[in-house]
Amino acid sequence: MQEFAERYMGISVNGGKILGEVFCYQKDCLGVPRYKISQESVDAEWKRYQSALDLTKVQLLEYKKNIEEKLGENEAEVFEIQLALLEDDYLSKALYKELQTTLYNVEFCLKNVIEACMQQFKGHAMLHVRESCLDFNDVTSRILKNLLSISPVAPLKVNLQGKIIVADNLEPSDVVDLADKGIAAIVLADACLNSHAIIVARGLNIPIVAGVEAVHLKVASNDVLLVDGSEGKIFVNPSKAFSDHYLTKTENKKKLAIAKKSVLDVDFWLSYDSNLTKEFMDSNQVKGIGLLRSESIFLAKDELPKEEEQFLFYKSVVEKFAPYPVVLRVLDVGGDKIAKGSVQREPNPFLGVRGIRYCLHNSGLFKHQLRAMLRASAFGKVQILYPMITGSEDLLQANALLEECKSELKDEKIAYDDSIPIGSMIEIPSAVLLMDHLSNFCQFFSLGTNDLVQYTLAADRTNNLVAKRYGDLHPSILRMLKMVFENAQTIHTPITVCGEMASSVKGFLVGLALGFRSFCVYDKQIECLKSILYNLSKEDLAFIADKMWSFGNSQEIFRFFEKFLNKI
Ligand code: PEP
Ligand code: MG
Repeated sequence: MQEFAERYMGISVNGGKILGEVFCYQKDCLGVPRYKISQESVDAEWKRYQSALDLTKVQLLEYKKNIEEKLGENEAEVFEIQLALLEDDYLSKALYKELQTTLYNVEFCLKNVIEACMQQFKGHAMLHVRESCLDFNDVTSRILKNLLSISPVAPLKVNLQGKIIVADNLEPSDVVDLADKGIAAIVLADACLNSHAIIVARGLNIPIVAGVEAVHLKVASNDVLLVDGSEGKIFVNPSKAFSDHYLTKTENKKKLAIAKKSVLDVDFWLSYDSNLTKEFMDSNQVKGIGLLRSESIFLAKDELPKEEEQFLFYKSVVEKFAPYPVVLRVLDVGGDKIAKGSVQREPNPFLGVRGIRYCLHNSGLFKHQLRAMLRASAFGKVQILYPMITGSEDLLQANALLEECKSELKDEKIAYDDSIPIGSMIEIPSAVLLMDHLSNFCQFFSLGTNDLVQYTLAADRTNNLVAKRYGDLHPSILRMLKMVFENAQTIHTPITVCGEMASSVKGFLVGLALGFRSFCVYDKQIECLKSILYNLSKEDLAFIADKMWSFGNSQEIFRFFEKFLNKI
């Protein structure tokens, strides 16, 4: 008997293996009535809209509270953004005009205004505007539903407990609704890994596979799906024997992981997450917080918080995790992450004023951040990391500003760690080639695999259309990483592998085989990675290190690792 009807690959977004029944989720098509109204009824229609708007605000505040309680403030900021969209009177003004000029009922006018806005958003040159489409659509369809007196959760009468949601894409409030109904996993056609919905789902610890092309054509409601969120795989209608074996294999490995110890000395660091606890770090024997992306903390705010607010935040993190070191990365805005009101329109944002370039262009703001980080270093072990370094000029300029901040603090008699370690991200090919020069001006490296893959393969990491071209198992990436490792060895500078590759099983194996021994991973992946590590022998690694060069394309490399993982 065949073990499963079909197997499809996507991208691993959040780990976990689940077997369950499919529910194909489609945004309900709202039947919006159209009828003429008199000039005198315009006010009454407008009042109906205002009530729907008020109700929507109440609902969003409830979602926000719910997520804040479950996940913390940062994750709930998604709804802050949606509430801000409601406060913006652009939609209301456009709607009022449409009502007065067309004299159609308010639902119909609202539908037209939403469609017109969505068209404008979708064609916009700026990625962040295109991405805010989903939030805008989520919020406005909620107002429409309220206008039509449809409860936001009414369309889903089905029992979703334990179901696997299959959809093209989801919006953040969909994820909250669905999670409340007890869904077990999510499979998406869309591959936009940094969409707000994915951030919320990841926070809620739901296994997710994204980027399974046309998935709604490949599986139907009531099919049984085995979802492997860690590996980005789905198996359609697997046999019981296959799924039992697949699921228990992982369980056995977990048990083994507890029993055995690795023959390799590997350091694990964790990516910062507001839910992380020191107890978790103790019990997993990690080295510290390897990456705190400061932009993700502040991105939803209208402007970057001033020095004092930033200082209090960094201090609280440093104190929470002391004595563990915390690597604070300076602002990495630009690219797909736009600080509100701060970046001009750029034709190629990922090749533009991003990361350290943005910081150096905005030295006043950068110095506030550096001062805040330096001040926090008086309360524990802090390391400062610069993103998007292209060459030593970037480092020299950043360090010069850091020195200015240090001498200002000295004059002001404010304490800081004078020997604070400085790190450079290695995430641009030019930085790989210049690691020896860079090491003259920094003490550690952090390998940004997400960006190094995108800049090596010239494939935008957020563009669905090239999602298939963006892959960390490309032969060129293996060669690039080999060069990184050898460079770091030659100049005796410590390096930690960061980015998605560090947390994915195959990426982790590639890193180990190349010789890397320090990885910064998601907390949810650490158990899985340790179980892999504890099942590896030195011979296994030598075999991978020898074999992986013989393949000419990503598929062959992928299959090689699949086969290898099935054996261990
Ligand atoms: C990376 O590029 O791999 C990385 C860790 O940074 P970010 O994903 O924030 O660009
Ligand atoms: Mg990066």
